[in-house]
Amino acid sequence: MKSLKLCDTTLRDGEQAAGVSFTRAEKLEIAKLLSECGVEQAEVGIPAMGKREQEDIAAIAELGLPMKLMTWNRSVAGDIDKARSTGVNWCHVSIPVSEIQLHGKLGLTPAEGLNKLLRAAEYGLRQGMTVSAGLEDSSRADMGFLIETVNTLHREGITRFRYADTVSAHHPGQMAERVGMLLGNVPSDVELEVHCHNDFGLATANTLSGIAAGAVWASTTVAGIGERTGNAAMEEVAMAWRFLYGGECGVRLDRLKLLADKVLAASGRSVGDAKAIVGELAFTHESGIHVDGLIKEKSTYQTFDPAELGRAHRFVLGKHSGSGGVTHVLEQRGLTITEETAARLLEKVREYAEASKGHVPEYMLVQWLMEEQQRTHNMMWG
Ligand SMILES: [Zn+2]
Repeated sequence: MKSLKLCDTTLRDGEQAAGVSFTRAEKLEIAKLLSECGVEQAEVGIPAMGKREQEDIAAIAELGLPMKLMTWNRSVAGDIDKARSTGVNWCHVSIPVSEIQLHGKLGLTPAEGLNKLLRAAEYGLRQGMTVSAGLEDSSRADMGFLIETVNTLHREGITRFRYADTVSAHHPGQMAERVGMLLGNVPSDVELEVHCHNDFGLATANTLSGIAAGAVWASTTVAGIGERTGNAAMEEVAMAWRFLYGGECGVRLDRLKLLADKVLAASGRSVGDAKAIVGELAFTHESGIHVDGLIKEKSTYQTFDPAELGRAHRFVLGKHSGSGGVTHVLEQRGLTITEETAARLLEKVREYAEASKGHVPEYMLVQWLMEEQQRTHNMMWG
């Protein structure tokens, strides 16, 4: 079973999302939860942002968590000095590798860019740090240049590289093809990390595709928060890797919901009730056909048991409910009803749901049942 390693960047790229800002206490709590969840590595900030950020990073490092930590840095000696002062040993040095960004943003030729990255990596190594090389905008870079960049840095002792789909320029097929091509032309001990953005809603798909093609590390954020439309969601990558690809990632699945709730609360964001894996409604069913199937045999409408996440299927009553759902909800409360009663209650359920555009609270169903029983009683004895 292929193992996938997670390098979570909630505390760096996640916090880069518009309007998101974590306090130090929140950063410490998120870091602890990520570590408890079994995440292998976390990117915890950008030291060049200033003293406060450096102190936050140092405070996380002082927790002494088993999870590896990493800082994000530009390919500049000054940034690396600041990174070193935080006490975090893993130093990620980044530079754009596409001509569009190299020329447009930094005014550099590809050769100048490569030289700048090389010098930064060497500087980090000389400072006794473990260096990861970040290849920003990899998806729009020339493949020959990417291969040359990885091989050049590898000769200096760098084995970890980040392939960044910075502006969401790949679909899953291209990601697999490019990752495969790159890995086929560099030494076998290169550990590639894929970092994908979600502008087309494909961040998770692209990440999984890159991993299946040979990358080892998945860069993710909790609940997918991040720059613009965000990053690959950690919980989606972990679950899909396990249940669709048959892989492993050593993450404690039963902690994912708690982690997502904490991160979302701290970020002041919400992801919508129907969000995959961690949404409130992810395992809620209303449709009569689905509820009927699930009551008879759970596998009819599930690819994985929500119990893996410490969650459970939940049935609600609404416009699409069937009489089986009504009967089931009451049975759960120890109330047995006839088919006729179920049919009459179902009518009320549908009327109420249509009028209110919502679900029928269970107490209301019980009240209707009591009214129904009173009516029958009156008819018989009245
Ligand atoms: Zn990013």
